[in-house]
Amino acid sequence: MATGYTFACSHCGHTVGTSGPWEFYRDSQGKVQPYGHPVPFSEEAEKAGVWGLLGDVFCPSCNKTEKIILEEYVRPVENSFKVWARKVTVLPKYKTAPCCPDCGGPLYLGDLEGQSCPLCGKGCFEGGAAWMS
Ligand SMILES: [Zn+2]
Ligand SMILES: [Zn+2]
Repeated sequence: MATGYTFACSHCGHTVGTSGPWEFYRDSQGKVQPYGHPVPFSEEAEKAGVWGLLGDVFCPSCNKTEKIILEEYVRPVENSFKVWARKVTVLPKYKTAPCCPDCGGPLYLGDLEGQSCPLCGKGCFEGGAAWMS
C-alpha cells in the first residue's frame, strides 16, 4: 500500500519525490532488505517475514531525500496483511515521528505540501499523491 508523492515548488519548480511506506526485512547479516509489495520478492523475504516499514522521505533543511526506517517490530510478522491490519508491536524507539539523521529536523512523506522550498526560499511545495502500488 505504498504511495508515491510528487511535490513542486510554486516559485522555482524544484521537484521532490517521496514514497512509502515499504515493507522490509533483515537478512542473516541484519541488513535491511526490501520485502516486496504486495507479495515477497524472494523466498528469503517470505521466510523472514515483514520486520518493519521504510520510507523515502524528504528533509527540507538538508534538501535531500533519505531512505529511513519508519517503524520496526518487536517480532517480525508473516506477511503484509498483518502490517496493514496493524497486528504488530512497534519497537518503542519508533513510536515517535522519525527525524532526519543528519540535522534532526522533521521529515516529510506525503505531507510536504505547504512547506517552504529550501532551494529558493520563496515558494512553497504543492502536489501530492502521484501513484499507488
Ligand atoms: Zn523554490
Ligand atoms: Zn536534515
